[in-house]
Amino acid sequence: MNDMIIPYLNQTLNTEDKMKFLEHIRECKECREELAMMMKVKKALESQKKELPKAVKQQAFDKINAQKDMKTVITDLFTNEIPTPKTSIKVVSYLLTTIKNTINLSLENI
Ligand SMILES: [Zn+2]
Repeated sequence: MNDMIIPYLNQTLNTEDKMKFLEHIRECKECREELAMMMKVKKALESQKKELPKAVKQQAFDKINAQKDMKTVITDLFTNEIPTPKTSIKVVSYLLTTIKNTINLSLENI
């Protein structure tokens, strides 16, 4: 069920899936915590949208590093041999997608 977190944040879920997801989130602590973490990442990256493209990636990561819990997650991703593969892949793919979108938006503003 937590593979719906990114589609949910990107608002690509249909109404039925969105309802199922929100219902699941009420019951499931694990997904709730993962959603909260993803929202922080999304928020941190989105707040950088107006910056110049070359600064976007670095500033986004700086901002994430400034948050204690995200710092732990990111550190786990890059230092542990086996962190939590499922979560890691999702965080990384989400970061890459969001950074790509952020850069595209920044380019449109020039
Ligand atoms: Zn769950």
